Amino acid sequence: MTRETSRPTLAEIDLGSLRFNFRSSRDFIGSGVKYMAVVKADAYGHGAVECSRALEAEGVDWLGVALVEEAVELRDAGCRLPVLCLGGAWEGQEETILKRSITPAIFTLSQAERLHAAAERRGESLAVHIKIDTGMGRVGVRHDRVPEFAERLVKLSRLTVEGLMTHFAAADDLAETDFTQMQTRRFWESVETFRKVGIEPEYLDLANSPAAVAHPATRSNMVRLGGILYGLGGDVLPGSAPRPKLRPVLSLKTRIAQIKSVPEGETLGYSRAFKTKRDSTIATIPIGYADGLCRGLSNVGEVIVRGRRAPIVGRISMDWTIVDVTDVGGAAEGDPVTIIGRDGGEEILAEDVARMTETISYEVTCSIGRRIPRNYKGGP
Ligand SMILES: *Cc1c(COP(=O)(O)O)cnc(C)c1O
Repeated sequence: MTRETSRPTLAEIDLGSLRFNFRSSRDFIGSGVKYMAVVKADAYGHGAVECSRALEAEGVDWLGVALVEEAVELRDAGCRLPVLCLGGAWEGQEETILKRSITPAIFTLSQAERLHAAAERRGESLAVHIKIDTGMGRVGVRHDRVPEFAERLVKLSRLTVEGLMTHFAAADDLAETDFTQMQTRRFWESVETFRKVGIEPEYLDLANSPAAVAHPATRSNMVRLGGILYGLGGDVLPGSAPRPKLRPVLSLKTRIAQIKSVPEGETLGYSRAFKTKRDSTIATIPIGYADGLCRGLSNVGEVIVRGRRAPIVGRISMDWTIVDVTDVGGAAEGDPVTIIGRDGGEEILAEDVARMTETISYEVTCSIGRRIPRNYKGGP
């Protein structure tokens, strides 16, 4: 599948593993709830269209995106599943939302009024979900303002409230279970408030991946799963809680562009940040921070060559990274290099890379840039 004419730096996406993770999560969480696959940010860097197709074939009920633009991409690709736009609706996007059958999760009255007006102009009605802020403090109708909001919303006759949702701030941390429970309580109080004005939504959803796995009481009638579908459970699921079996979906690979023998005492790369401590075999690989290989991995990260770990030495630059392959033995130009993934007995997970740069695995895969082609295997 590799295109001979392009740089050999690519991300391999194993759709079979994606489907495995969904089945495994569903077995763990249970079949009594609906499943929303969150495919925002190009499916956390894995490719939204291909992942959505694979997950649709596996039986997910909803897709979740952050932007209306992302929902449009799915519709343009022929996706027919319901799509919830978690990022609301910006002014001017009302027509697109109506025409492309996108369901917005809204959190301000002005969004509601604009959507209502657009629906009226078209002689249509529109299903919306309402995002309630129960303690995340980000977007969402604050839980203590729900009564006014519900009373004004109910007058917008062209809008049907199909869902109420909230989002947890710390479901990944069992030390914060009290806070998660408080958010859950506030959510159900808000649901009650909506019921009092005659709004009885079909979907009542709270749980992201860590909540759905570690806090069964939050599963309600739909869960919104992102990370665990991509096998990124390791650093966002509470360590001690039981969890579904997950497989990594993404591998990041390239090949050695050049090998050099460098004597002891020479410096390598920008700012001369690394000095050889011995006569060394040095490989340069065609990937840099412009591809999403975090510059913070300079002199810290590792890659796998011929089944052995080799350290990244010197500063990662925009397009190139230098690796010390002295201990690999026999490394040659053209050799495959694994940045994320498995080679022989060695494996580097996105969460390993994340730990080295003090972030989470989600950011690692989301950062893999557009210059890197995604090669898919195991599709429907
Ligand atoms: C991103 C997101 C999710 C998915 O979270 P994961 O931890 O990846 O499962 C769920 N709900 C909302 C509102 C989100 O923004």
